[in-house]
Amino acid sequence: MQKADYDLCVIGGGINGAGVARDAAGRGLSVLLVDAGDLAGVTSSASSKMLHGGLRYLENIADFPLVREGLRERKTIMEIAPHISRQMDFVLPQNADEAQRPAWMIRTGLFLYDMLAGRKKLSSSRAVGLQDNKYGAPLKDIFETAFLYTDGQVDDARLVVLNVISAAQNGADVRTYTACTGMRSDNGIWTLQMHNQISGQSYEVSAKTIVNAAGPSVTQLLSLLDGGMPSDAPAIRQVKGSHIIIERLYEGDHGYLFQNPDGRVIFLWPYEQKYTLVGTTDEDYEGDPRAAMISEAEMEYLCEAMNAVCKKQITREDVHFSFSGVRPLIDSGQGKASKVSRRHLLHEHHGVGGAKIISVYGGKLTTYRAIAEEVVDKITKRRKGWTAHETLPGGDIDDGDFHSFLLRKEAQYSFIPRALIKRYAKAYGTAMDAFLEKAETVQDLGSHLGDDLYEAEVQYLLQHEFARTAEDILWRRSKLGLHVRDDTVQALKSMLASPHNDGGV
Ligand SMILES: Cc1cc2nc3c(=O)[nH]c(=O)nc-3n(C[C@H](O)[C@H](O)[C@H](O)COP(=O)(O)OP(=O)(O)OC[C@H]3O[C@@H](n4cnc5c(N)ncnc54)[C@H](O)[C@@H]3O)c2cc1C
Repeated sequence: MQKADYDLCVIGGGINGAGVARDAAGRGLSVLLVDAGDLAGVTSSASSKMLHGGLRYLENIADFPLVREGLRERKTIMEIAPHISRQMDFVLPQNADEAQRPAWMIRTGLFLYDMLAGRKKLSSSRAVGLQDNKYGAPLKDIFETAFLYTDGQVDDARLVVLNVISAAQNGADVRTYTACTGMRSDNGIWTLQMHNQISGQSYEVSAKTIVNAAGPSVTQLLSLLDGGMPSDAPAIRQVKGSHIIIERLYEGDHGYLFQNPDGRVIFLWPYEQKYTLVGTTDEDYEGDPRAAMISEAEMEYLCEAMNAVCKKQITREDVHFSFSGVRPLIDSGQGKASKVSRRHLLHEHHGVGGAKIISVYGGKLTTYRAIAEEVVDKITKRRKGWTAHETLPGGDIDDGDFHSFLLRKEAQYSFIPRALIKRYAKAYGTAMDAFLEKAETVQDLGSHLGDDLYEAEVQYLLQHEFARTAEDILWRRSKLGLHVRDDTVQALKSMLASPHNDGGV
């Protein structure tokens, strides 16, 4: 057989592509990972950031396996990435309103949720009162009682980046801002056309297998095959979900799940210290997933949903930021967008020149690791299951005890403000030593770009985390975009434009 440059080319640096690249590289395959933009630049930085089985999915018995898998993976991700994830208590306020699911149903659902989690359970669910306590504080006086249960939460974009760093540490070649523009196969080998979006250069590479992890563009990517779209390609339904970010509404780390009168569930939880994140919507979407934005109707819907249950009344003027993502769901035909299953499907296409191409359809952030394992099992049988046990970069924290780890780092870097050490610890875990270890004073962190952004961190992101632009740094490697002043953004852009910075653009 002809020799190929790579065993595997993964197209798409969202969570699914990142997970596949990590798993495959760790199993000894030579891997190329490309993304047309930044890592996590499309759906995987626009999720609701929950590690969950999906309590709501229990309404469909066919989705029970999905819930069980999500609950298992929730715990696994929290173990391999303790720095970027955490447990979060959710309050489900309840009253006798006819539009609400009855209390017995919620209780049964939570019981099932605990059961399906099995040994991977976080904490048992229970009933809680709302009078004169932190759980009732932000709510209107319309609820009689509430249930409390625990789920997980993760920094979605950083989960992607850490998987890609791990892939690279295992030998993968990672090329961001590189679009695949064509694919043809000959004698069992793929030739792929690549276009570097920054330099404008086009070139070809070859690979034995392709994994199509283009997320909501999964079908569009298939249309680039030399023979055109395979006739067996499943259809996807693009469903947009939007979130709004408003000021912080209450003290405490817990979140809320409300039952909206339309039967949908709306959540809110504290986000990035000073904000509250509210989501989400389900709206059929056509067009470029990268360009998805909140519509007027979605903005109004989320404000109305909040105003129905919270004391604080909001309008669109209270919305500081919003973001939207497009769910790439398997099109099951008819039905409301919110009812379409979140199950994934792996499809190996046939009749395209004898070489293997596997497309990933649908899925959830929470189940990415299991999906990646299933994909790589179709390519090699070597070293199955390794990704569940090896921590992601920076996650090698003793016993996964983040609190003790933070205390140690505060003591070790006592010259750095505590809030900044906490941010570094939550983003980089033990990897923060890579850019802090040699520092003895704050001045040793290099130029101060403003707010709490120093050159040392930026250089680390450029050299080790595949960041190229200011947006990559401010919105995906971190969420500093929510916090920093315009001057800081400009200082960062100037630094990246400097000829001394090979990595940045
Ligand atoms: C609103 C919303 C809320 C969600 N909330 C949750 C949640 O709370 N918990 C949860 O578990 N899941 C959640 N999900 C689901 C989860 O976010 C998605 O399943 C997941 O992010 C999809 O990842 P992906 O890698 O398949 O796609 P993407 O992240 O979109 O990645 C695909 C990548 O492919 C690249 N690409 C496309 N075409 C090309 C090409 N020709 N060449 C090179 N690169 C290309 C794109 O640039 C993109 O980066 C949510 C989804 C949405 C939309």
